[in-house]
Amino acid sequence: MNREKPIVLSGVQPTGQLHLGNYEGALRNWVSLQDDYRMYLCVVDWHSLTSDFNDVKGLQDRIFQTMLDFLCSGLDPEKVSIFVQSDVKEHAELHLLFSMITPTPWLERVPSYKEKADLLGLDSYGFLGYPLLQAADILLYKADYVPVGKDQLPHIELTREVARRFNNLYGDVFPEPDGLLSKFPLIPGTDGRKMSKSYNNDIKLADSPGETAKKLKKMITDPKKIYKGDPGRPEICPVFAMHEVYTITRNVNKISETCKSGDLGCVDCKTNLAENMNTSFNNLRNKRKELEKNRDYVLNVLERGAAEAREKAAATMSEVRKSMKLVRSYG
Ligand code: SF4
Repeated sequence: MNREKPIVLSGVQPTGQLHLGNYEGALRNWVSLQDDYRMYLCVVDWHSLTSDFNDVKGLQDRIFQTMLDFLCSGLDPEKVSIFVQSDVKEHAELHLLFSMITPTPWLERVPSYKEKADLLGLDSYGFLGYPLLQAADILLYKADYVPVGKDQLPHIELTREVARRFNNLYGDVFPEPDGLLSKFPLIPGTDGRKMSKSYNNDIKLADSPGETAKKLKKMITDPKKIYKGDPGRPEICPVFAMHEVYTITRNVNKISETCKSGDLGCVDCKTNLAENMNTSFNNLRNKRKELEKNRDYVLNVLERGAAEAREKAAATMSEVRKSMKLVRSYG
């Protein structure tokens, strides 16, 4: 692997089978970055415990399912180090050391902290420290960039502040990473809200063509278009938003016109979308099925990724310990 390329770190929670929102919003982007950046892709199992600490029974299977989605989407283990966070213990060590130098209000003011704490009723020490563990994940690899959505920029800002504070206290060790903002289509869920596993409105990469069609059949449309002849409003219809991603432009325009004129009914429109989506995901799904039979290969990818990650992490921690005078030398 070429070590001269800018370093990118990305993390994903092992939520199990990933959905099309994850695919369009993250996986596709990672695949497009893997040739130009030195990428570390971390399955953040420790992070998942901040909210799922009482649901660990299926954790290993969720990691495996997440891996299947990574690999069938085209992430190449020859180009990207894919690993599980808890396989690289240095994440915990750096998190601990950062916790010594980070004022608590820095963590309390991260916008998602208050929102999520209220929403999920979470008040653990680990939950408050989540953004700091994230800072450790990023800085351990001296990442230059972190692919993020706009809402995650405050987390990167905290990481930059922690890096600055560490460097001021102990000497220059860490770069200040930048967010790598990328444009991606927002994929609506079947109820029209953002696609999310927790809303139970998602279509998974692993879903069969039949399951996909069934879910699309239930998808909400323009509520004013009840019968085929009724004029519709594609601009507010989530099915149309999906067509814009999975249907060729020429046909999208035709769908828009015939929806508005009433010539196109929602049933046909959804059948058409299901066909296009199933064609788009056919190869990926076949690859996923093959990988599922090859558990050893998948586990091997994780082992190899962890070994590569540990090499980089060990080098960084050696610098950190030296700069913090945590190395004994009485000579
Ligand atoms: S015809 Fe298609 S785009 Fe128009 S409202 Fe129905 S599902 Fe939506």
